[in-house]
Amino acid sequence: MFGPENYDPASIDYAVSFRPPFGLLKSLPKLKAVFSLGAGVDGFLIDPDYPKHIPLVRFVDPTLSGEMAQYAVMHVLIQHRTEHFFTAAQQEHKWRQRMLPRRTEDTRVGILGLGEIGTVCAERLRDLRFPVTGWSRTRKSVPGVKSYAGAGELDAFLSGCDFLICVLPLTPDTRHILNAAAFAKLPKGAYVINIARGGHVNEPDLIAALDSGHLSGATLDVFETEPLPETSPIWSHPKIMATPHIAAITSPLVAAQSVVEGIAVIECGGKPENTVDFSRGY
Ligand code: NAP
Repeated sequence: MFGPENYDPASIDYAVSFRPPFGLLKSLPKLKAVFSLGAGVDGFLIDPDYPKHIPLVRFVDPTLSGEMAQYAVMHVLIQHRTEHFFTAAQQEHKWRQRMLPRRTEDTRVGILGLGEIGTVCAERLRDLRFPVTGWSRTRKSVPGVKSYAGAGELDAFLSGCDFLICVLPLTPDTRHILNAAAFAKLPKGAYVINIARGGHVNEPDLIAALDSGHLSGATLDVFETEPLPETSPIWSHPKIMATPHIAAITSPLVAAQSVVEGIAVIECGGKPENTVDFSRGY
């Protein structure tokens, strides 16, 4: 067990973690930097005692972004191609052909968060000929992807999403951004995919919007409480596909390389790429 009883806090220069115990980082007097093993850093910033004079470097890896995009594309296609209909037909030994309910060119996909991961999701879906839009804090120029920016353009963005994919960081501004008001702005029949953090979704509001028929379904990889409790209504909801936070998993090898590179940059007096801006929270 890692604890102050088996190390000298004053001997630690660098810390590598994902969700460290509250107060642990503050107890390391010589700490030079902290490295996150995940792309998201909400697990550090919820610590009220996080020492904000110490740089926090998040994990960015094109392979991880690609895997996140695979997950998003797969779940869009499962719904778009009505895969459940054909799975049920096969189980009944029935030859049931049918056209796609909606043309790809008429199926609008919106990405909440056009950062490292959201941009790859947008590009892959655009290349499959879905009309793709994205929402971010600042305006983006991703070829073929319409950019909406800032709180003032959120409602207009939401009103044009048949699929909504959330890839935002979890910050005070984005917590519960997917709530009853946001779901009401989506077109009737919209489908929600959350691959960011459970805290983005108000889960009772989501279930209400599914049960009312306003939303057609949801895929959730992340949850307010993880592991998802066995008693959660999400497990058995007929309109929800749930997976255990596996949209992408950090490669230990790549993470180790990126920590080594980051330490080398700091030891040479530089600032590693992907250092978190504490004023933004990501
Ligand atoms: P990123 O590069 O920092 O991108 C974040 C995007 O969100 C940026 O486009 C940013 O806008 C936008 N954004 C942030 N706050 C906003 C706000 N208040 N209003 C509008 N837009 C806002 O992050 P990333 O690497 O793509 O990762 C995104 C998240 O994915 C992570 O934080 C993590 O929680 C999650 N994740 C989940 C898994 C999983 O397995 N489920 C795996 C990896 C990551 P600007 O560009 O304008 O600043």
